[in-house]
Amino acid sequence: MTKLSNSLAQADISTALHPYTNARRHEEKGPLVIERGEGVHVIDNTGKRYIEGLAGLWSVGVGFSEPRLVEAAHRQMQALPYYHSFAHKAHEPSIRLAEKLIEMTPQGLDRVFFTSSGSEANDTVVKMVWYMNNALGRPEKKKFLARTKGYHGITVASGSLTGLPYNHMDFDLPAIPVTHLTCPHHYRFGQEGESEAAFTQRLLVEAEEVILREGPETIAAFIGEPLMAAGGVMPPPEGYWPGIEALCRKHDILLVSDEVICGFGRLGSSFGCVHYGFTPDIMVTSKQLTSSYMPLAAIVFSEKVYDAIADNTARIGTFGHGFTASGHPVATAVGLENLKIIEERDLMGNAARMGARMHEGLRAFADHPLVGEVRGAGLIAGLELVADKATKRPFDPIGKAGLAAFEIGHEEGLIIRNVGDTLALCPPMIVTEGNIDEIVGKMGRILDRTADWVAKEGLA
Ligand code: PMP
Repeated sequence: MTKLSNSLAQADISTALHPYTNARRHEEKGPLVIERGEGVHVIDNTGKRYIEGLAGLWSVGVGFSEPRLVEAAHRQMQALPYYHSFAHKAHEPSIRLAEKLIEMTPQGLDRVFFTSSGSEANDTVVKMVWYMNNALGRPEKKKFLARTKGYHGITVASGSLTGLPYNHMDFDLPAIPVTHLTCPHHYRFGQEGESEAAFTQRLLVEAEEVILREGPETIAAFIGEPLMAAGGVMPPPEGYWPGIEALCRKHDILLVSDEVICGFGRLGSSFGCVHYGFTPDIMVTSKQLTSSYMPLAAIVFSEKVYDAIADNTARIGTFGHGFTASGHPVATAVGLENLKIIEERDLMGNAARMGARMHEGLRAFADHPLVGEVRGAGLIAGLELVADKATKRPFDPIGKAGLAAFEIGHEEGLIIRNVGDTLALCPPMIVTEGNIDEIVGKMGRILDRTADWVAKEGLA
């Protein structure tokens, strides 16, 4: 390490509390300081290059050095670096991006509300839905349905919708009325000998039982990621989403598609709901909306939801919700340019083609002694490491082998993410065939070296 990186690392250790990090371990280990980005690569402050196999946090669709986004930000900074949208104000970038989102998203999603993060967006969804049901004179219809291992953010309401222990433990969450249904992941939650179709049926029966037990008049909305990503890359079983949609329609429950990761082509289709064949009332997008060059999220929702809210604002006098940075001009200008790039370069088509190549390569690891399941869709994949392939027995403790693989990945020049013992890949949508082959090759070495590490540690 250079002297500069040493002093930077030391400054970080002595000043920061890092998100999603074991703080005491960080004090010993220090940070990996990333300095530059080039296409699908990032470079640390010692000059080492890595393929960003997770596109940052599942988000940098157009890669790390897109000049058009830099220019769009620069132009907007010069023209109008900031303005808000409170009290009848507006500016062109947010108007144009809202139009673009309505054009790109499925029919029936005709209104947009901007926030700066996925968590803020999902918090806003909770508040919009509550506000709407109060406005409609059904104040008891407030509960949410979500899923175990779902990820919807970390603010008080969105963190409540999230169904992961680390996001609840010692944070006193959930803090809003939410029921977490069984995680729709056949490999882990299917019963012995249960087919995928039977598993889907069981989940749908469970969902309806919960709705009837709680009372449909108390359930406001169902929220889910089309493909569950941050909880461990879990595609839904066949027929799951059309079944959930039918239940929502039958019981007058709003359906919210959290497309923060799946949106804008990640699965090789325009949106996750299109990929799995359902139509939400509310869609939440972020991340790939700006390729994370600027913080931005957009809620796109139906005229029906809008009308109920709009009528109430007329009655009360205002919609008492909004952020200083809602629809920030620089963020929305970058978002608009980013979506144009995705369309002009057919990055959704590229995600479908490169995703197919990635899955073909990764499927070869299904026979690897450490790998229990290879899964995913489009340009997103998960490899679950297990102690025993035949019985699917996980490692004890869970996560140690995954962390070892994650760290070996850094040595091999590939940044991945381990969700427990599942290794996640979600590379930028600009990846080439050569990049994919390199990623698959590196994954092979990571698996072999992790197997050696597991044997040496005596982990079982
Ligand atoms: N929803 C989903 C599906 C996500 O994956 C994430 C972030 N990984 C969020 C919401 C929260 O977004 P943010 O981190 O921007 O608050």
